[in-house]
Amino acid sequence: MLVDRFGRSATDLRVSLTDRCNLRCTYCMPEEGLDWMPGTDLLDDDEVIALITVAVHRLGVTEVRFTGGEPLLRRGLEKIVAATAALSPRPRISLTSNGVGLARRIDALATAGLDRVNISLDTVRADRYRMITRRDRFDDVLAGLAAAKAHGLGPVKINAVLLRGVNDDEAVPLLRFCLEHGYQLRFIEQMPLDAQHSWDRAQMVTAAEILDSLGAAFTLAPTADPRGSAPAERWLVNGGPATVGVIASTTRPFCDTCDRTRLTADGQVRNCLFSRTETDLRGPLRAGADEETLAGLWRGSAWAKAAGHGINDAGFTQPGRSMSAIGG
Ligand code: SAM
Ligand code: SF4
Repeated sequence: MLVDRFGRSATDLRVSLTDRCNLRCTYCMPEEGLDWMPGTDLLDDDEVIALITVAVHRLGVTEVRFTGGEPLLRRGLEKIVAATAALSPRPRISLTSNGVGLARRIDALATAGLDRVNISLDTVRADRYRMITRRDRFDDVLAGLAAAKAHGLGPVKINAVLLRGVNDDEAVPLLRFCLEHGYQLRFIEQMPLDAQHSWDRAQMVTAAEILDSLGAAFTLAPTADPRGSAPAERWLVNGGPATVGVIASTTRPFCDTCDRTRLTADGQVRNCLFSRTETDLRGPLRAGADEETLAGLWRGSAWAKAAGHGINDAGFTQPGRSMSAIGG
């Protein structure tokens, strides 16, 4: 198992399949994009599968979430999903994606074994979508959402980040849109992980503000089920069964129940989004290390995990890698 010094165990693996993206969300990366990882640094499909196999067979991982960058840009995604679904015990498999181009691939992904999707959508207005993502793909995302629902990849979750002065008036419209379509909405507080290092605590739209906005239009009551290691706190909307979640990493940190471990597209294990150190698995893998050696390195990474992310500590500094290069 991937246990740490604070009694947590990591069973949820986030695998980044690329640092590239076809959108340019203003809160994530600059308009011109970033210096992408060189191709030789990237794990190939078989290397990704080999490391997921170590995690599932030897380290107790039960959930695998593919992310990026934009994971749909990875040509081998279906092959990687199918290989993950063939592992025993079979982990639950999900995808965090911007949804662009999802409709075209949903058949193949569902056949490969994908269980669920989380799609990012920060606005229900096409003009704002263009402003936030710097691309005109709003309809494409709506098609991806509908396709995921039609293929039974549910619950279809939507991740939304609210930005002050940009879309902070959309908590209610986003929830109405999700209720109407049967999607599960989760708001994410903006985190200091953007490539431009422009995060400003004073500008962040907080969980409290989001709940205030929602409270004006809906009745919210905390859900009865235990939160466990889920990052989102959830509320029943108008008595349920629909729910809305808020992931308040900054104002209500949930580090003490964190069960995540991360593998970057270039083969580095991170024990936290905000970690300042990484454990290289690509080098040992390419040098011929066996599964137990790789598992030992991964366990070492987990053991060294800090108690918390430290965003609210006086000396906090943002990690060198930005969100799109870590895998959110
Ligand atoms: N491209 C995919 C997507 O957008 O869903 C997967 C990667 S993206 C980094 C994963 C999630 O991180 C998205 O929901 C996105 O909105 C969120 N995100 C990106 N930068 C963020 C930031 N600085 N703070 C909070 N969430 C962020
Ligand atoms: Fe791309 Fe996702 Fe970052 Fe937007 S949030 S630029 S879709 S990686």
